[in-house]
Amino acid sequence: MERIYIGMGSNLADPAEQLRSAVEALAQLPHSTLAGVSAFYQSDSLLPGQPRYTNAAAALDSTLEPLELLDALQAIENGQGRERLERWGPRTLDLDILLFGDRLIDLPRLTVPHYQMQERAFVLYPLAELAPADLRLADGRSLKDLLLACPFVGLERLPLN
Ligand code: ATP
Ligand code: MG
Ligand code: MG
Repeated sequence: MERIYIGMGSNLADPAEQLRSAVEALAQLPHSTLAGVSAFYQSDSLLPGQPRYTNAAAALDSTLEPLELLDALQAIENGQGRERLERWGPRTLDLDILLFGDRLIDLPRLTVPHYQMQERAFVLYPLAELAPADLRLADGRSLKDLLLACPFVGLERLPLN
């Protein structure tokens, strides 16, 4: 079993409902146990002209291999109507692997830790709800330092429901 953290995002077709559906789908993944889900957070899109995003993080314990998990996450995205028309376009659902145990992965289809997580408050603050306070990434960086360098700005933590 390895502990995996997944970043979730949506800004189309009722984003909170998209995330709730994604959580249900994650709970059904084979060889895996859903270990936790963060609160939902809203923020403006980094790109102009897109609806606001809702983001969250999930913790998964799994014996799936990284590319098996990526395939499964992309199937969930596609099942919820994800269309890839342009890079960083609006989307019904984005599921990104943030951390995968203590693995460093550098494959054409998969980079872990996620290459931009340190720049994204909407990734780091949900993750921090689930991860141990002293978490270190496989590359040695501490989550605490990443949080200190990425202020909680423009994020709205939604009440739990
Ligand atoms: P970003 O990667 O900047 O968050 P995005 O999530 O919108 O952008 P996608 O269109 O969802 O990008 O994915 C593009 C490709 O990224 C996927 O086809 C996948 O192979 C690749 N990829 C690389 N690393 C990861 C990862 N850690 N998690 C998910 N996909 C990844
Ligand atoms: Mg993404
Ligand atoms: Mg993605």
